[in-house]
Amino acid sequence: HDAGAEWIHVDVFDGNFVPNLTIGPPVVKAIRKHCPDAFLDCHLCVLNPENYVEDMVKAGASQFTFHWEARGVDGELDRAKELIERVRGSGMLVGCALAPETAADVLFPLVDEGLLDTVLLMSVRPGFGGQKFMPSVLPKVEALRKRSSKINVQVDGGITLDNAKEVALAGANVLVAGSTVYSAPAPPADQVKALVGLIRGGLEASRSFA
Ligand code: ZN
Repeated sequence: HDAGAEWIHVDVFDGNFVPNLTIGPPVVKAIRKHCPDAFLDCHLCVLNPENYVEDMVKAGASQFTFHWEARGVDGELDRAKELIERVRGSGMLVGCALAPETAADVLFPLVDEGLLDTVLLMSVRPGFGGQKFMPSVLPKVEALRKRSSKINVQVDGGITLDNAKEVALAGANVLVAGSTVYSAPAPPADQVKALVGLIRGGLEASRSFA
């Protein structure tokens, strides 16, 4: 955080929507206790995300990102809108996540209506850290950025010092890094500083093209 990371990304996995089981609301609450001012960006890779809204807001989540493909949302606009309204009403920001195989245009109606703060694009298969970046996400980033200059376009999975600038250049302004920060030989703070520099460089370059 002190090295320049603006958000803390928390992967909440239920062992059903994705094969892995990670952390839930009690751990989010513990993180919030230690980081009272941090933006806790909670990515819910869970079935029936509508069942977690109250627990997550009570735990101190800043943003609630659900999956378009999850049971309970089922890729249906009406269900997504209902959930968005509940999340918004609870006081959290709202994100919607797309798995790699889901096309970006399914979210255009929500983006056009200004209902989302963030679109999260998975650039690996959801579930485990340490996977290789899928470049097929880049046209999706470009399409969403073209659709809205205001929305956060977030890319999650396989971000490294070698691809961060390219991803920002495509129009992403939020990049999630796990292994690059925590599994590198260099200290995490140095890795964050390097990533932030690359993202800022990419964003500036993309603006000057526009
Ligand atoms: Zn995530």
